[in-house]
Amino acid sequence: MDGKTPVAIVGAGPCGLALACGLWRRGIRVRVLDAAPEPGTGSRAILLWPPVLDVLDELGVLREAERHGYRPRALNYHTSRRRTVRLPLDPANGPLVLQQDRTSRLLEAALADLGGKVERPVRVTQIARAARSVLVKATGPDGAALSVEADWLVGADGAHSTVRKQLGIEFPGTDFSRSFLLAEGRLEGAFDREDAHYHVTPAGVLVLIALPGGEVRISGALADGEAVDIETVQRMLDRRGPGGLRVLELSLLTTFTAPHRIAASMRVGRCFLVGDAAHVHSPAGGQGLSLGMQDVRNLGWKLAGVINGRLAPSILDSYEPERRAAADQVVAAIQRMTRQTLFSPMALRVRNALLHLLHKAGVLQRTLLPSLAGRRVRYPDVLFGETPPGRRRPGRRKPGRRAGSLPPPGARAPAWVLAGDGKPFDGFRLITAGPEAGELARHARTLADRAPSLVELRHVVDGPGGFLLLRPDGYVAASGNTAAELGDAWQRLGACLSA
Ligand SMILES: Cc1cc2nc3c(=O)[nH]c(=O)nc-3n(C[C@H](O)[C@H](O)[C@H](O)COP(=O)(O)OP(=O)(O)OC[C@H]3O[C@@H](n4cnc5c(N)ncnc54)[C@H](O)[C@@H]3O)c2cc1C
Repeated sequence: MDGKTPVAIVGAGPCGLALACGLWRRGIRVRVLDAAPEPGTGSRAILLWPPVLDVLDELGVLREAERHGYRPRALNYHTSRRRTVRLPLDPANGPLVLQQDRTSRLLEAALADLGGKVERPVRVTQIARAARSVLVKATGPDGAALSVEADWLVGADGAHSTVRKQLGIEFPGTDFSRSFLLAEGRLEGAFDREDAHYHVTPAGVLVLIALPGGEVRISGALADGEAVDIETVQRMLDRRGPGGLRVLELSLLTTFTAPHRIAASMRVGRCFLVGDAAHVHSPAGGQGLSLGMQDVRNLGWKLAGVINGRLAPSILDSYEPERRAAADQVVAAIQRMTRQTLFSPMALRVRNALLHLLHKAGVLQRTLLPSLAGRRVRYPDVLFGETPPGRRRPGRRKPGRRAGSLPPPGARAPAWVLAGDGKPFDGFRLITAGPEAGELARHARTLADRAPSLVELRHVVDGPGGFLLLRPDGYVAASGNTAAELGDAWQRLGACLSA
């Protein structure tokens, strides 16, 4: 046995690597084990939506990612060769296009800079749980048996997760009957390479996205029995695409299926699941890594806080309900989106007409883009545990009372709070808002002064009057308008801090 480690992470895909970097950055020397002899290859996740970019930014690799990738100017839904719904993108709601192997390489380099490394090839085969630790058995280089004892274990080992199976966690869900083609290569002919394109035609859907470096990703549902060859790619382009495009050569030609599954549990005792080990869904909309990175962001500060003795272990109880709610919301939305790619021509015409109507009314900008950008995920109000009977939760308003625009617990912090707040701080933030600092701000100052290393205080003049208690991951822990509500939130926060 190789000594005890505070955290063992199984899997060095982007989620395992990002979690490892986040923990090392907080001074926790984790071990990362991966079965593959080499870092991951292949482009899988090319659309990196804001939740992924938030994590890359926190880890200091966003600039480098932006140097290698590009930001598409718009999402285009072509419902015929003449009609297009064009949704302009900006850095706040749009993705960066970068191949997954490059993202992984950046994260692995960041891990090395922090002092960590990936141990490979190390294939985990068995997990044994004890009261205060977890024993991981693996096959190391040259087939040698290896075991690692850890205080905490994180399974980031992808869709076929050994950790999940070893923990006896079911992976219920559904599988789509159809296969999808995925090709990448060089194309001849004109199309706007600065936008992402979804051709939604009676002949089927075609996704066309230019990749950094000059190749193009081409994807669409295959008909039953259709061959997976260059002729099929060309046929898809001709029948579903803008016309005039010719395949010159392909560097990748494969298929993927679209299972929609969520692990029955994302935590068992000292073991957690993140990323594809916890949930899988069709790549439509490019949401897989986005969901996984939000698992990482949610778990990172809680686990580090507990290991470093700043937070009580009960904070970890919120991981499962919060991330399950997020996975339920995203997987259901993607399932609906994927079903639409298989609509009959008639249903598709109706759907396309509706798309244009919603676009004209501005609904797509207001709802679809924030959903794709991961900005509509809402957590249940569980961070501080169950509310004692007879006590109203801070920020939960009585029906009929004007809520103002202070977001409730579990919502993401609004842009007016996050704007201009570039300072890294790994604790809670107490924000008082409104044109006047007043009594509430003075009360907040007295409270925050009691725990300066855990709670940072800030006053924002712009917002509606009141307070927001923000978690390190940018979600709202509590909000309210009165000093009594602030006192209540403070008391409940105190119960989460380590004694
Ligand atoms: C065609 C396609 C396109 C996609 N496009 C997008 C997109 O545009 N945007 C997006 O956000 N998402 C996209 N996704 C989803 C995205 O690729 C996944 O969500 C992401 O790879 C999940 O990362 P992960 O770290 O959880 O797992 P993985 O990337 O699968 O990594 C798992 C790691 O665990 C290791 N491992 C496995 N078993 C063991 C074991 N027993 N012991 C030790 N190590 C082990 C593996 O070697 C691997 O390195 C796409 C997926 C596909 C298939």
